[in-house]
Amino acid sequence: MKSVALHNLGCKVNAYEIDVMQQLLQEKGYKIVPFDEKADIYIVNTCTVTNIADRKSRQMLHKAKKMNPEAIVVATGCYVQADSEIVEKDEAIDLAIGNNKKGEVVRIIEEYLSEHRASDTMIDINHTDRYEELELKKTADHTRAYIKVQDGCNQFCSYCIIPYARGRVRSRRPEQVIEEVEGLVRSGYKEIVLTGIHLSSYGIDFIHKDSEDYLEQGMNEKDIAQKRGYLLQLIGGLNELEGLERIRLGSLEPRIITEDFACALSKLDKICPHFHLSLQSGSDSVLKRMNRKYNTQEYANTVEILRRYFNDPAITTDVIVGFPGETREEFEETRKFVSEIGFFEMHIFKYSKRKGTTAAVMKDQVSDQDKNERSEQLLAIESQMSETYRLSMIGKTVMTLFEEKKQIGDRMLWIGHTPEYVKIGVESDEDLANRILPCMVSGPVLGGICIAKTGNF
Ligand code: SF4
Repeated sequence: MKSVALHNLGCKVNAYEIDVMQQLLQEKGYKIVPFDEKADIYIVNTCTVTNIADRKSRQMLHKAKKMNPEAIVVATGCYVQADSEIVEKDEAIDLAIGNNKKGEVVRIIEEYLSEHRASDTMIDINHTDRYEELELKKTADHTRAYIKVQDGCNQFCSYCIIPYARGRVRSRRPEQVIEEVEGLVRSGYKEIVLTGIHLSSYGIDFIHKDSEDYLEQGMNEKDIAQKRGYLLQLIGGLNELEGLERIRLGSLEPRIITEDFACALSKLDKICPHFHLSLQSGSDSVLKRMNRKYNTQEYANTVEILRRYFNDPAITTDVIVGFPGETREEFEETRKFVSEIGFFEMHIFKYSKRKGTTAAVMKDQVSDQDKNERSEQLLAIESQMSETYRLSMIGKTVMTLFEEKKQIGDRMLWIGHTPEYVKIGVESDEDLANRILPCMVSGPVLGGICIAKTGNF
């Protein structure tokens, strides 16, 4: 029996795909071992979103080869997709499997094992409209399952390499998503998180098949998708599933949150009031250079709509500092804007030049020192905003889905999350794993965890 060690880098879509690859290999009788053990085959599911992600991907591939020079080292995913000559260039890599080919991992590895080469391991991702159907039965996390419903992106933000690594928008048929989630619910999962490379585009590729009438009226694809409400229909279908308790949405584009969308969402009882709306910059001129399709006023309106339909929802976001040409004044606009919005969490990224993108050749690249300073400033604001949101939980009764028991400082605590994704910790001798219980948040907040008590309140 051959042993396989897998390691994942990057986003939740990648995490979903590596879980499926592991499952496929296990079903074929391969033995799964931890990545730091000696294995016959190593698989690194790579990421290329930043230079650091590229570097980490390379490091893990080299680490694998070093651990066992006899092993077959397989690089899968975005880093190899974006640079398909990588196998020739890097002697640590024996085999590269591109995106849309991960479902064939067993066939490809077995071909390589018998012939020392494998065919058809990569496609031209920019010219495919096929969604690669994968099905997940379980994940390492036993309470929350991340479900991939969409791949690819048509947005071409000027800094982003992802459309070149993931191709154009391809969506998964709702029946398939529902079938997968039904299986996961039967296995005990209570919460699902819908993910995609550009979740807000879910369904725009169904349009040509479903909406000739709208196309004839000259409507664009985005508007048709919104009119057809593909994403809402999918969420509505999932909301009906018995045994499923929570639906969390992955990153959304602000423009999808219209009054109608928010109103319809708020009527679905399983939706978590936790919305990740990518901001990237709080300066309109920077947003324009980034080729983002909204301005700060529209963004603020979106947040206002959500706050009207949901009771104090958790709004989280991503921000890039040091985008080419970002002046002190533009950064100041961002600093002011994020403070005004009041996020629960903010992920801050320093702009990373990606070869082949429009922003890579823009003039006035920002120095590393300025990027570091700006990032530090936003991190300080982030930690303050997060603490304020957590403190606002004190005195409230919150439904918490418990995951695991952990040592936090000198206390053993059961850790779980509220629908807003606030971390809760309670002391209990009972086994709380995978249970949803009402908790009274008593405080204090310790290292980002709100201390609470379970009981009937
Ligand atoms: S929306 Fe923009 S940032 Fe997000 S994946 Fe697409 S191109 Fe990249």
